[in-house]
Amino acid sequence: MRAAHSGNTGVAAAAQSSGAVLLPPASLTAARLLYATAGAAGHDSPGHPECAARVPAILEALETHGLTARSSGVLELTGFSAAPRPAVQLVHAAGYVAGLERASATSAERERAIDLDGSTYCTASTSSDACLAAGAAIALVDNVVAASRLSADPSAVPAGFAVCRPPGHHCLANEPMGFCLLGNVAIAARHAQTQHGLQRVMIFDWDVHHGNGTQAIFEHDPDVLFISSHQAGIYPSTGKASEVGTGDGEGATINLPLPGDSGHEAMLAAFDEVVAPAAQRFQPDILLVSAGYDAHWRDPLAGLQCRSSTFHALGHRAKLLADELPSCRGRLVMLLEGGYDLKALGESVANTFLGVLGEAAADNFNPALLRDEPMDKVQQVLREARRVHGL
Ligand SMILES: [Zn+2]
Repeated sequence: MRAAHSGNTGVAAAAQSSGAVLLPPASLTAARLLYATAGAAGHDSPGHPECAARVPAILEALETHGLTARSSGVLELTGFSAAPRPAVQLVHAAGYVAGLERASATSAERERAIDLDGSTYCTASTSSDACLAAGAAIALVDNVVAASRLSADPSAVPAGFAVCRPPGHHCLANEPMGFCLLGNVAIAARHAQTQHGLQRVMIFDWDVHHGNGTQAIFEHDPDVLFISSHQAGIYPSTGKASEVGTGDGEGATINLPLPGDSGHEAMLAAFDEVVAPAAQRFQPDILLVSAGYDAHWRDPLAGLQCRSSTFHALGHRAKLLADELPSCRGRLVMLLEGGYDLKALGESVANTFLGVLGEAAADNFNPALLRDEPMDKVQQVLREARRVHGL
């Protein structure tokens, strides 16, 4: 499956500039969505929900929905490298990165996965796998930025999607946490700033869990707008509306803690009433998305009720928003975070792609089978966020 998949759609990098692995201009202008796969096959632990089967489940769903055919406008970016050490160390301390390498060496010696924090495991390949996941995100930023400089039409700029793991949004600069080893989205954000001169970065995190690691890394930084929607009261217990950033970064962190049973209507209201207006005010130079899929009703780790078509709508809105914002110029890169029901994960990522492409959703699920969303409480949360942030 994997070999055939790559053979059909992989477009090997044809040019290198300043270390970036770039697609040829003709491919960049023809594509409407670029994805890069970093599946971390060796980062796996028996019975753990953040397992190596996640990425093949996504790739199979993409193939089922025709999203790997050349005619789809979707291209796979291959041939990218692991994130270079200096890029990782824009976010993580040198000692932390070295410690991760030592943990992988220890795992290799013991010939089993080792536990780092009670929920985050490390195998012999985890250190290199985590660097490759961050490298996928960096390579997509490089290619999306290059495409944006080839075209005056933002809607013609392909979006990027990193089908990568392990995820990143919980880990801290000095500490693994919540299945996360390296802050992929944070590394991509710093890379966009330092290598491409994109000063203002917006990160929208729609994973069902609060992106505490990303928040902690940027909470002092007025140039990175971080918005997290998540289920209130679950792991990691942070992400209250009152957490708004600190010092110069005050106001550049927005939290939307949604009540249990929130779903499609709540997420779209959050996007339209808070995320989009905050973006319009902030005027980012690039939009990054921490795209977790554990807010799906089938997910075993949480209690929201999104469905595949929710992620279609969010993907569609994210691309339109990136296109509308003058300084963003269509630049959108999304990175996989959580999502632990394999069927929901595959279908939801495929629907995100369809939404970004402006094609119809592929979701026959009958929403009448779900519980009513607590929209009065949802509106209270959104009103509070608008009040706190003056939106
Ligand atoms: Zn999550």
